[in-house]
Amino acid sequence: MPPDHTLQVALPVPLPRLFDYLPPIGQAASPGDVGKRVSVMFGNRALTGFVAGVGPPADPGLDLRPADALLDAAPLLHGELLESLHWLARYTHAPLGEVVATALPVLLRQGEPLPDTHAWHWRLTEAGLSGRERLRAGSRPRRLADLLAQHGTLDEDVLDLHLDTGRATARDLGKRGLAERFAAPPAAVAASPRSGPALNDEQQAAADAIFGTSGFGALLLDGVTGSGKTEVYLHAIADCLRRGRQALVLVPEIGLTPQTLSRFRERLGVPVHALHSGLNDGERARTWAACLRGEARVIVGTRSAVFTPLPEAGLIVVDEEHDGSYKQQDGIRYHARDFALVRGKALDVPVVLGSATPSLETLHNARSGRYAHLRLSRRAGEAQPPAVRVLDMRKRAQQAGLLSDTLQAIRQALDAGGQVLVFKNRRGYAPVLLCHDCGWSAQCKRCDSPMTVHAGGKRLQCHHCGARQAAPPACPDCGGLALQPQGIGTERLEELLAEQFADVAVLRVDRGTTQKRDGLAQQLAKLGDTPGILVGTQILAKGHDLPHLTRVAVVGVDEGLFSTDFRAGEKLAQQLIQVAGRAGRAGKRGDVWLQTHHPDHPLLNTLISGGYHAFAEAELEQRQMAGFPPFAHLALLRAEAQHVDAAQQFLQAAKRALRAHDASLEMHGPLPAPMPRRAGLHRVQLLLSSAERRALHRALDLALPDIHALPEARRTRWSLDVDPMDLY
Ligand code: ADP
Ligand code: ZN
Ligand code: ZN
Repeated sequence: MPPDHTLQVALPVPLPRLFDYLPPIGQAASPGDVGKRVSVMFGNRALTGFVAGVGPPADPGLDLRPADALLDAAPLLHGELLESLHWLARYTHAPLGEVVATALPVLLRQGEPLPDTHAWHWRLTEAGLSGRERLRAGSRPRRLADLLAQHGTLDEDVLDLHLDTGRATARDLGKRGLAERFAAPPAAVAASPRSGPALNDEQQAAADAIFGTSGFGALLLDGVTGSGKTEVYLHAIADCLRRGRQALVLVPEIGLTPQTLSRFRERLGVPVHALHSGLNDGERARTWAACLRGEARVIVGTRSAVFTPLPEAGLIVVDEEHDGSYKQQDGIRYHARDFALVRGKALDVPVVLGSATPSLETLHNARSGRYAHLRLSRRAGEAQPPAVRVLDMRKRAQQAGLLSDTLQAIRQALDAGGQVLVFKNRRGYAPVLLCHDCGWSAQCKRCDSPMTVHAGGKRLQCHHCGARQAAPPACPDCGGLALQPQGIGTERLEELLAEQFADVAVLRVDRGTTQKRDGLAQQLAKLGDTPGILVGTQILAKGHDLPHLTRVAVVGVDEGLFSTDFRAGEKLAQQLIQVAGRAGRAGKRGDVWLQTHHPDHPLLNTLISGGYHAFAEAELEQRQMAGFPPFAHLALLRAEAQHVDAAQQFLQAAKRALRAHDASLEMHGPLPAPMPRRAGLHRVQLLLSSAERRALHRALDLALPDIHALPEARRTRWSLDVDPMDLY
């Protein structure tokens, strides 16, 4: 007999449906089970899922298995967060079970209990209070009892600081009924908040606009680098704390540094919970739990922090909202900025998006009045904007890619006691290893692309699939010995600069040298305030204050000027502005030397003469004419397979399925991806485009069940990316 109440379980499997289970043996299902985690057998695998609904079974004829156990006494996911995750599953067209698995910290995803977040405190019992004097004077129990009487309560973590063996003695008192341990919420940081600089008029106007937003509102804080955006966030967060609310601050992957955290802690005077990839699983789960229980009041985290529960939300800030690290590029392909806006709306709180180089999507929303547009046009304090100088590289002698003018400019800045940043967006020693005798070049066997030379020419590495090998001693084709690294990466630049400027420190900063979170801070500390050179990729473009940096040399943006990706121009402009913004932050006026083979390129011209906003205007016009976002909405179906035919056939069939449901949907492809082979797999893609977001989603909703069921789908690995950031 079919039961009336079955558990409708969302499981982390790539099937876009729920699975019916009977409640665990001996239990009845109730609507109150929705949002609890549940362990079930799926085939012969034990999985942790969560109860998405309770109701009659979808197929009454089916023999259902009972779930093994409900794992939570009370729902773990409910209210706003649960609803927002439902929204995300619909928007990404992904299974709810996978979305929930992405949102939960690993331990909770695996079914572990919600961890303890309490700080444990000790206090005397009635018996302890009255009987304390009868303990032998000078004994440990007596000393501890006196301490407890004096302080009222003491945090277990500091007992041992007051008295060696403090914890053991406390347990002893506890056994005798004289003291008791109790859970207390973590105490506020004792230090009183340090006050910051008084806000200038523009900052004050921005802060007032945030204070004045009651309920949901999106605000773009559009301020040049160093204009004091972070100061505005700090005021808004302090206001949020005064109202007894939680604040969530999202920062890009490389923006979350110990510097950032200590600035927040000092200024707010409350504990700041950090959430980032450097935490272990236990720490992540504890922080998540602390957010859920409302104990965490300020949370600063990278992309996945957008999933923290915020039962008492008051404010969400997305710093550097244009940053590419907010988009998850595999699994559930969500955009943390966009999801933050969805949550802000559901939570009915303001969402502040900050950037010196806002994404074109966000600018478009601000221009059309959907977002409030707050401008900080001047640098805060004394700092002045940098001057930009363009150096024409055509027909000029160069040394490892540097013009003699550039070398001279570096020398002058060093002689004046400043530090110089040399920006090159290419890791490694050289991008290509070439045989000068026969023209052979080192290619990755699994990707159709050259391998990058590392370690001064000794190693080869593929930046797409990670493959590594020793560089061959001789050309594998002709046996010749004329193998030479071609082009310049940061490693080679470092080598040359160290030769040329042997009297100062030369530090390279790129993904190769900053594996550890604190690596960069430590390296920068080495440099101190003495003259020196930083060579690096865009990792240098943000995060750290470099107060002694007076000059920036940009050597190598030309590759980016001619990319086919429709977002390449935007990314390049953002990088240039961000890097240039590093020069002259504190009092000293900085400048930027930009060497290029294309001094007349419209992008460079507009950017230099009119700044980022002039560039953005021009670029938005082009996007509108070409029918690209934000004027169109895209989704990309990607397929990968050992045989290119399998991927092609799948996408052809998917295209037919889409066409059957929507005759007017614009589709391009299937075409080989811009990178047609990676890690041994052929890559093909089908681009969907619509002027109407809703039309695009409707077509996908209708066609995806058919696409999942295609026989071709089993012969390829495929994925859907809604709002793809790049078309790779
Ligand atoms: P952004 O986040 O826009 O890059 P920050 O908030 O980090 O800018 O501010 C840049 C620098 O200017 C910091 O050293 C900060 O302390 C200082 N600053 C910010 N606002 C003011 C102000 N109103 N008066 C003086 N200095 C300020
Ligand atoms: Zn050769
Ligand atoms: Zn490769």
